Amino acid sequence: MAKKILIVGGVAGGASTAARIRRIDESAEIVMFEKGPHVSFSNCSLPFHLSGIVENSNRLVLMDPVSFKSKYNIEARVQQEVVSIDRAGKRITVKHLVTGEVYEERYDYLVLSPGASPIVPQLEGVQLPHVFTVRNVVDIERLNQYIKEGQVDNIAVIGGGFIGVEVAENLRLAGRNVSLVEFADQIMMPFDYDMVQILHKEMHDKGVELIVGDGLKRVTEQYVELHSGKQVQAQVVVLAIGVRPETKLAVDAGLEIGALGGIKVNANYVTSDPSIYAVGDAIEVYHQLLRKPTRLALAGPAQRQARAAADHLFGMQHQNKGVIGSASIQIFDLACAATGINEKVAKQAGIAADSVYIIAPDKVGLMPDSNPLHFKLVFEVPTGKILGAQAIGKGNADKRIDVIATLISMGGTLEDLKELELTYSPMFSTAKDVVNLAALVALNVLNGRFKQIHVSEVRELVESNAVFIDVREKGEFANGHLVNAINIPLSELRERMHEIPSDVPVYVHCRSAQRSYNAVMALQNSGYNNVFNVSGSFLGICLSEYFNDVTTGREPIVTKYNFK
Ligand SMILES: Cc1cc2nc3c(=O)[nH]c(=O)nc-3n(C[C@H](O)[C@H](O)[C@H](O)COP(=O)(O)OP(=O)(O)OC[C@H]3O[C@@H](n4cnc5c(N)ncnc54)[C@H](O)[C@@H]3O)c2cc1C
Repeated sequence: MAKKILIVGGVAGGASTAARIRRIDESAEIVMFEKGPHVSFSNCSLPFHLSGIVENSNRLVLMDPVSFKSKYNIEARVQQEVVSIDRAGKRITVKHLVTGEVYEERYDYLVLSPGASPIVPQLEGVQLPHVFTVRNVVDIERLNQYIKEGQVDNIAVIGGGFIGVEVAENLRLAGRNVSLVEFADQIMMPFDYDMVQILHKEMHDKGVELIVGDGLKRVTEQYVELHSGKQVQAQVVVLAIGVRPETKLAVDAGLEIGALGGIKVNANYVTSDPSIYAVGDAIEVYHQLLRKPTRLALAGPAQRQARAAADHLFGMQHQNKGVIGSASIQIFDLACAATGINEKVAKQAGIAADSVYIIAPDKVGLMPDSNPLHFKLVFEVPTGKILGAQAIGKGNADKRIDVIATLISMGGTLEDLKELELTYSPMFSTAKDVVNLAALVALNVLNGRFKQIHVSEVRELVESNAVFIDVREKGEFANGHLVNAINIPLSELRERMHEIPSDVPVYVHCRSAQRSYNAVMALQNSGYNNVFNVSGSFLGICLSEYFNDVTTGREPIVTKYNFK
């Protein structure tokens, strides 16, 4: 007999499950319930409507119920909310949100993909009509219309995660005055504090007022007040402080919920009831690197889980390898991507980890649009297992991160990355791509061939008058340098080595750490044994210092910033 499969949620996980089931079984009866007016819309493209990159909001909706029926024989019932599950009777109760009708529907199998809803903190003023959240097409249309019709100039976005940053960026591109408020000391948590300073600078340079380390206290008609007492003018407030898995249905039905608040599933996305599957933002998944449950609200994993659940429902095998967390975002002129765990998370998890920060051209320097790519590679010590990477630049950061994501999912090490044979044309990359280069540098560090310090350690060392040798050429030095650095260009190093003390630690840098690496090796090979290369070097130092310097008014440690 044909299986009757009901699906709760008609977007990323729900629609993907439905489509996969239809491809496996032509006879199954598939009904998908969606409480909103649209199924199958591009959640990820919603913020781009605010800038007009996606001009017509109709284009955000990829398929409607009529196409689902005619193309796939899937019944998509919109504006119909599943309000309860009777597990014993294998029935759900549905409420039609327009007519008010309440009815029941029987199932053989039920798939839950209800997603996650934006968190709205219980603070004064959050219910005011000018406070918005962004989850679906209706939300983004309302927000866009309110801003345009009210000719709103000042907008506060609360929360510096992916959604908050994209909303802030697109509103700024639309010419609004945007303040982005983040409670933590940084936006975009997948990036380490040193790398994220590049993103802070980009937001700041493009005219977003970025406020970190301060949280929302209350909302009024004209402004938001922060914990610090600061008042930020805002005629529109967008709350993007995170999402909470939609588990009410599952909880009420007595399904098991995990420690992190998501629906608990097994390796095949089966809940604690063998007739009920769950996928997407509402569930807990297994972190391949941290070896524990996690939550990951991303579209790619939701779609993979949907396929795996559908396959399992029909007895097809699937190997659940867990997640690693790969994500990318465009922030104004910068492509930014990260995968795996960052150094902070690795250390919090008690994993012995180290990292290298490479700044290398994303394509051969002679080529048009060659730009520096900032690349951080995190690896386990002493195994050299690759744990994560972060890339930021005007060029293909995402491509580099996808390479690392592939290696991580296969348990790759620095040796694997060193030997990885990638494509090369001067138009696309360099013969030794930045990812290969990062592996070479990391192997040198891991094997103790030279020592390094990170840009995050430089300020304290400068303030304690440590010896910094800047091996860039004189003209470069004159154009900005660390306040107490000694300039000995690499080209003069061998004649002037006697000027470098051998009884104290010496920190060597250049522009991007390549010339300084050569200098460090020359010094080591001449008997110096307390020499450190500054990973990221002057470019990295300037980028990592700038935002905090200009927003806190602290004393810069450079005479002038260099960003190129
Ligand atoms: C603004 C924004 C930008 C994003 N950008 C990215 C990105 O760039 N990259 C990325 O990987 N991810 C991104 N995401 C996350 C991604 O969209 C989600 O991870 C993905 O959609 C999760 O799929 P899902 O099926 O679990 O939930 P959803 O796609 O949210 O679908 C769940 C649906 O279930 C419906 N529903 C809930 N309860 C019921 C019920 N009881 N009855 C009927 N219907 C119900 C909801 O109305 C909702 O439409 C973004 C999300 C947002 C909001």
